[in-house]
Amino acid sequence: MRKKIVAGNWKMNTLPAEGVELAKGVVAMRGEVCDCVNFIVCPPFTHLAQVAEALKGSNVELGAQNCAAEAKGAYTGEVAASMIAALGCKYVILGHSERRQYYGETSETLNKKMEQVYANGLTPIYCVGENLDEREAGNHFAVCKQQIEEVVFNLTEEQFKNLVIAYEPVWAIGTGKTATAEQAQEIHAYIREVLASKFGAAAAECPILYGGSCKPSNAAEIFAKEDVDGGLIGGAALKAEDFIGIGKGFMA
Ligand code: PEP
Repeated sequence: MRKKIVAGNWKMNTLPAEGVELAKGVVAMRGEVCDCVNFIVCPPFTHLAQVAEALKGSNVELGAQNCAAEAKGAYTGEVAASMIAALGCKYVILGHSERRQYYGETSETLNKKMEQVYANGLTPIYCVGENLDEREAGNHFAVCKQQIEEVVFNLTEEQFKNLVIAYEPVWAIGTGKTATAEQAQEIHAYIREVLASKFGAAAAECPILYGGSCKPSNAAEIFAKEDVDGGLIGGAALKAEDFIGIGKGFMA
């Protein structure tokens, strides 16, 4: 049985007090969804500690949105995986399309970040996905394959057992455009095949999340697909009711 996951990527939103309120709201409503769904919130670095405190005693987990490629040292403005782990994070989002696009993250950088994430006992949520031109040219399979081969294929079998993938078509992120449930299933199944070509049967255990304008009204249809194991949620993660409502998609 693969893990079912609903992870919230808060991006650069919320001030610390607002983040704490949001986290408390998620904790308060969490009981409306079965324990079989794992909820994760990923606030900005600045309030990880306060949100960790707000989540204490609940079964809502904490993640970060990024981490440094180096362990420590003279890297002004960076945040090490060890620092994130020390604050109680269990997950780190890596390779989000906004980081690839705006901050020039390459597979080379992401390989180093992966190393730091595993060295500190964290689980990466590794994002892959094509942009609109690539989708329209029919290159979406090749793009996802390459993003997986260049990073995930460098993991050991042990590391691979502790990995979450998020398929996020860039054209669907924050645009209100969602991939259809069929489009999501088609590429999730393909991603699983690519993973199986390297890691064999273990690929059947790897959670693959869908991300891109997921909301309470479309979650059930997308999550009903065999190879969709949950969602990485941006905009709709900023309201506890919507975030939990997306989790309810598993119960429909
Ligand atoms: C995201 O950026 O990970 C995302 C899925 O955003 P949104 O849900 O807002 O499209």
